[in-house]
Amino acid sequence: MKDPIDIVVSALPALWMMDTGRYVVAATLMTIVLAVFWRAGLAERKLQARHATAGDIRREVLLSLRTCLVFTLVSAAVVYAALAGWLTIYWSFKKAGPVYLVFSLALMLVAHDAWFYWTHRAMHHRRLFRLFHHTHHLSRTPTPWTAYSFSIPEALVQAAFVPLFLLVVPMHEIGLALFLGIQIVLNVIGHSGVQFHPAAFGPGRWMGWATTTTHHDLHHETGRANYGLYFRWWDKLMGTEHPDYRRKFESFARRQLTTRSEQAAVH
Ligand SMILES: [Zn+2]
Ligand SMILES: [Zn+2]
Repeated sequence: MKDPIDIVVSALPALWMMDTGRYVVAATLMTIVLAVFWRAGLAERKLQARHATAGDIRREVLLSLRTCLVFTLVSAAVVYAALAGWLTIYWSFKKAGPVYLVFSLALMLVAHDAWFYWTHRAMHHRRLFRLFHHTHHLSRTPTPWTAYSFSIPEALVQAAFVPLFLLVVPMHEIGLALFLGIQIVLNVIGHSGVQFHPAAFGPGRWMGWATTTTHHDLHHETGRANYGLYFRWWDKLMGTEHPDYRRKFESFARRQLTTRSEQAAVH
């Protein structure tokens, strides 16, 4: 059998493509969506009056590409650990069926949300903030390119979740790929700077348990509160949700309706 180190080294270009490619594709697509639909209503939904500068975007891209290199090294470690049998990534549905795949994917998202909330809160501690999280908050007005704009220590914290989870829960490779896809899509939406979410995502509404762009944008704008990633559960439970969240979300939801009815009146 081939030496596991040789297998990992020969997989490095593909791992780099996977980690960097999903960031570049997702952020590029979101940038195109923002440009194409800006005048068709998205400008009305821009959450902050401030605009990110060209320098902000250049910094975010460079830092994110550096984060992708960190992710690649961690992915290589995951492949090595899988080959060594320390954790399980399986390829055959004979091992476990599609129901397990769906269950394990849902569990992974819930666990990732908890990991993100608690590491994020810890990184806001004054003793940890400068080393870990200051870099991400250089983006006061987030853009799709902010998604992986981390310091190296924060990139390692973010990357650590996947191997830690896999140590406990075996994942089908499709489940893992879906997790990585969902994670970057929601990450880019959360940093897009405009309220995409319809009124149904408002607090108290039927999708109100999910976070929205307004939720994470307020975190960047104010530098506090709203530490959650996919769900509002932890912020609600720990009393860390921003007091302006509901008001801001609803004012933008109303603005969309006004805009639409105005458009209807014009046409
Ligand atoms: Zn933060
Ligand atoms: Zn952010």
